[in-house]
Order: sequence, then C-alpha cells, then structure tokens
Amino acid sequence: MHSAVRQGIVDTVKKAVSDPLVKCVVICGQNGVFCGGADIREFGAPMTGPPLVPMIHAIEATNKPVVAAIEGAALGGGLELALGCHYRIIHSKARVGLPEVTLGLLPAAGGSQRLPRLIGVPAALELITTGRHVSAAEALKLGIVDQVTDDNTVDTTVKFALSVVGRSLESRRISTFPCPPVSDLDAVFDVAMQRVRQSARGAIAPVTCVQAVRAAATLPYTQGMKREQELMATLFTSGQARALQYCFFAQRAVSRWSMPSGARWDTSKPRPISKAAVIGLGTMGRGIAVALAQAGLSVVAVETQEKQLMDAKQAVSGMLERGAKRRGVAPALGLVSYSHNIQAVAEADLVIEAVFEDMDLKKKVFQQLSAVCKPGTLLCTNTSSLDVDHLASQTPSPELVVGMHFFAPAHVMKLLEVVYGPRSSPQAVATAMQLGKKMGKVSVAVGNCRGFVGNRMLKPYMEQAFFLLEEGATPELVDQALEEFGFAMGVFRMSDLSGLDVGWRVRKADGLVDPDATSGRSARIRQGRRYSPLGDLLCEQGRFGQKAGRGWYQYDKPGSRVAKPDPWLHNFLEQYRARHGLGVRHIDHQEVLERCLYALINEGFRILEDGIAAGPEDIDAIYVFGYGWPRYRGGPMFYAGMVGLANVLERLEHFHQVHPDVPYLQPCSLLRRLVASGSPPIQKWREVIRKVHSQL
Ligand code: ADP
Repeated sequence: MHSAVRQGIVDTVKKAVSDPLVKCVVICGQNGVFCGGADIREFGAPMTGPPLVPMIHAIEATNKPVVAAIEGAALGGGLELALGCHYRIIHSKARVGLPEVTLGLLPAAGGSQRLPRLIGVPAALELITTGRHVSAAEALKLGIVDQVTDDNTVDTTVKFALSVVGRSLESRRISTFPCPPVSDLDAVFDVAMQRVRQSARGAIAPVTCVQAVRAAATLPYTQGMKREQELMATLFTSGQARALQYCFFAQRAVSRWSMPSGARWDTSKPRPISKAAVIGLGTMGRGIAVALAQAGLSVVAVETQEKQLMDAKQAVSGMLERGAKRRGVAPALGLVSYSHNIQAVAEADLVIEAVFEDMDLKKKVFQQLSAVCKPGTLLCTNTSSLDVDHLASQTPSPELVVGMHFFAPAHVMKLLEVVYGPRSSPQAVATAMQLGKKMGKVSVAVGNCRGFVGNRMLKPYMEQAFFLLEEGATPELVDQALEEFGFAMGVFRMSDLSGLDVGWRVRKADGLVDPDATSGRSARIRQGRRYSPLGDLLCEQGRFGQKAGRGWYQYDKPGSRVAKPDPWLHNFLEQYRARHGLGVRHIDHQEVLERCLYALINEGFRILEDGIAAGPEDIDAIYVFGYGWPRYRGGPMFYAGMVGLANVLERLEHFHQVHPDVPYLQPCSLLRRLVASGSPPIQKWREVIRKVHSQL
C-alpha cells in the first residue's frame, strides 16, 4: 500500500468521522483491486507517510460503520486493513491472504493478532504460516468475510453499509475479541511448530509467525501487538527477508531475457503455439506431455516402442486425472493423442524431443523431424547436456532450434532452462520462453554449453563431495551439512535418487572411466587433474542408487526411499583410502559447505564471465527453482554476496593452494574483478560483467 494511499485513507476517514452528514464509510480499491499488499519496491527504503498500524486502529475505533468492499484481492496489508473494518463484503472472484511469510516477514499491521481472534487459532495458523491465498467462498466459510456477492461489489457494499447504520459496533471490533477457545492450546502450537520446522528447513519466518499467533492466543491485544512488532524486527534484520525479496525480483528479472546478439524479450515477438508434439515417452516425455496438455495445448505424443507407448498412455492419463482432481477441473485427456509413427507430428507448431540422451539418436530424430514437419515448425530438444547447435546443424533451419531443458518430474518442477544456440532466432527463444510461462514454469534463457547453467555448476559441487569422501568424510556427514544448510536433499541422497549410472555413462563416453587404474597415483588423476573414481567403482558393483536398493546408502528394497547408512560403504571407503595411502582427516560441516558451495559458486562466476547466463539473478532462479537451493538464502550468487565476495575468494585461494590439481577451485577472474572493485551489491554486478565483456 503506497504512502499516498495511506495518507488518503487517513484524511478521508477523519473527514467522514467529523462530518455529521456521513452515516457510514465504504473502503474500496481502484481498478477492480482492493489492495495487493505492501509495495515491495518500498521495502528497505525508509518509511514515509502515515504508518499502517495507527491508521487501522483509527478505522476500527470510529463510531460509524466502516465496511471493506473487496474486489480482486485483499492481500497482506490489504487484508490487515480490511480486518480493521467493521464488516467485509467480497466479490465471488476475489481472493484474500496474508502472504508475508513468503517474503520472510509476518503480517505485522495487526494481521497476526486479528485473524486468530476472528477465525480461531488453527485456521489462522495455517493461513499465516503458509501465506496461502483463499478464495471468496472459502473466506466466507472461514468467517473472514461477512458476505460474498456476484454483483457490483461497491454498490452491494454501500447498500449493506447503509443497512447497518445505527447498529452497535461493540461486537465488530476484532481487536477486542478474545480468541475463540481451543482445547489443549499447547498441543495445537506444538504440532504447528513441528510442522513448520520440518517443512521450512531453517526458514525463520514461518516459525516467527507461529510465535506471533501464540501471542494472540495468550496475551491481551496491546501486548500481542508489541510482541508482533518485536518479532517483525528480528525478521527485518535476519537477512532471510532480504534473500526472499531478492528471489521475488529475480523471478521477474529472468523473464526479461536477452541474448548476446542484443535480441531481447521486449523486441522479440513469440509465435502462437496451439499444437505441440513430444517425441519419446520416457519419464521426461510423459511429464512434458502432461505439462503441455495442462496448459491447454493439443499434444501429439510419439513413442516407437509399442509396450512403452501403452504404458505411457496410462501414465499420462493418470497424471492428468490426478492433476485435474487437485485443481478441481476436468482432466484434459482429449487433448493428447498417441502414435508410434513420427509422421503424426506433421501438423505440430512446435516439437519437443525427449528420446534417449544419445547424440546419434537425437541427430537422426532431428533429420526425420525436418523431413516430416511443416515449414516453420520450432524444433526443441530436452537434452540435459548435449550440444544444441550440433543438433541444429542437422536441420535446414537451425534458427528454429532451441533447447527446452525440463527437470523431472516435468509436470511438477517449476524450472525450465531455455537454451539458445548461436544460431537460434530471437523469435524461437521468445516462443519457448512464452510456452514455458504458459506451462506455469520459471523459464530462464541460457547459452549453449556443456551442462548449460544448472548441471554445469553441479559438476564441481559433486566433485568436491567425492573428494571429501576420499579425505575422510562419509556420505551421511556431507548430506547432513548440506541439508542443515537448507538444501532439500544432500548431494549423495540426490545422486542415489537420480541414479549413479547416468553420470557413469557420460564419464565413459568422455574416456574418464578406466577400470584398470586401481592403484597408484594414476588411479586418481585423469587428463592432468585430480579425479575420484568412487562413483565408477560403485557402478561396477551395480550400486546404481535407489532403484538398485543400494548406492551411497542402502535401502530396504530397490525403489525404497528411506536411505540408511551402509556399513559396507564405510568399509569400502576405508579400504579405498588405505589402498591409495590417503590419510583420514576430521572434516566438519563448515569445510563441507565451503568446499562444495564455493566450488559451485566459482563456476557460477565463470558462467557469467562466459555470457552463458545474462546475470546473477538467472543463476539464482535456476538453483532455487530447479535444484532445491533454500529460497531464504537467495540462490548461490546472492549467498556469495551475503558471506562476502572477498571471503569466498580468500577461501577458494586457500583450497586451491591445498589442492592445486583441482582447477575448479581456482578463483575465476570475474570474482577477482568484483572483489577488486570493492564487492559491489549483486544488483551492480551486470555493470562489471559488461565491462569485462567489452574488454574481450
Ligand atoms: P527419460 O525420459 O527418463 O530420460 P528415456 O531416455 O528412457 O527416459 O526415454 C526415452 C524414450 O524415447 C524411450 O521410451 C524410447 O523408447 C523413446 N525413443 C527412443 N527413440 C525414439 C524415436 N526415434 N522416436 C520416438 N521415441 C523414441
């Protein structure tokens, strides 16, 4: 809520109260929206204009009825204002909510104190700790609003306000209510606290929200308000709020993409796509088909293996049905048609190829597509690592080829890397970005290189984790450090989940796997750099991870999800270290974090230097939305700024000195450059990067 709006409300309410002709007051929004909450651009800047809390108090205290007419949305400060009114009327299509928690804050204009008094502790806890938006119908059921209307909201509200003139307002001032009684209040809060601690993984705002609601339930209103302010102050200074607000902006920044050619989001017009096709119905292809159909596109799904096609049909229908049930809509089953013949894609506007990750096969598919598709069809590949430009060279129109790198499961995961090759046209990139948006993805445009952005940074991160095992750590120790940091999953549990064989196949193709190199220094050196064969050795034993029932951990049975420490592996590591004469060191969480995260961050700087990502926000969005990086830490590049670039540089220099045969630990020159220019805030990095590029 902008300061001018607050000033306007304060002045008008004052006038209304003193004017004997005014019988009641209706507060409504402009342009069909009551109020979307705080203007996030005002965060961090010194507050100007009248503060929200006394304004809401003044409204609540008036002796003429004040009624909120909620159209569009009443979120955050908007809902807090409405809770200060004596009645609330809402349009059937409007939503309400207190989403502060998602920005690392709590509803600190009385929201955390009034909502539990109005709707009870359990419901308020749920809404405030999740920040969930609530429909008009649900808001009525919960008791947040007094009436829902399908008609003109303001007219209805005016009529309503006139009808309550003269009625006592005693029972309408929420701050004077006691919280509705709950049996065993302590148990309710214990359960809530446990739930948020588990799902928040180190985020403090949800925990603080529970504490604020507890204050509402146990303290008189004025004391509760004081507690609300204290808790808010701790959040403001925590750094987490700043990280979450940065994420909010980063997500918007990535939609304003640009290419090295200078082509940009605002000058490139996407092409309309109504008919899409997916080739290859493995895990990825199925998820992509579901995501496309859920976005309302008609989809032709092609799979050559008859049995796989039958299975896929069933799986896709199942996913569509479950998704539709969750969202309360009809499943889009009719939008997907199936075929074992690639000829079926002839009419598609856009094709996404998701066959095996094999260059020769993909090349063949691209040649076939070029022959089958109508002219102008966009050809996309869901490769996670192969050269998009090489595939483009298989077609007569390389400008129509882009990468669309989805993450498994593709209909659930928010991230999409849109890979532009050197010859991809701006229109092709714009179309893929737009399609991603339509599918509800956070689409990030990235350049073409091995592993693109996400997987390229993952490589040095995983490499450090393997080296740490060699030096004395266990998978449990490494994972615990990373999970305490806030990652959804540690590196070894993740490797078990996605399968060790995937990387093994790639390393074999790269000539890195050498089963004969079992002892001596050469066993741990490849192409002149330190190499850990641990993953290869596990694969030779058939320890492919979860699906095999054993990997870095053991599982009760193949496919089971509960990872247990494995004495076999500990023994194996001991023997391995003995065979290679490796001394065992004590490794603590701090070293795990510094080695793994700084190696990953260092590669992020190289990616910026190479122009593969347009800015640090792009990298951070990729890590937050696709790799389980804790959102309240803003993403790897933001985190580097938080711990201090000079600090990151100093630690990398130290580690590189200790491990001179690990090139990934050698600090990248852009990082040095940024430190030399005084470690500017992340919003200023692009200027330094531009300078570096212009000097190349
Ligand atoms: P994931 O999506 O999990 O990476 P796979 O790589 O196993 O799964 O899936 C690739 C799918 O592509 C397989 O079902 C395979 O049968 C199918 N496929 C392979 N070649 C072709 C082709 N030329 N046309 C259509 N489908 C193909």
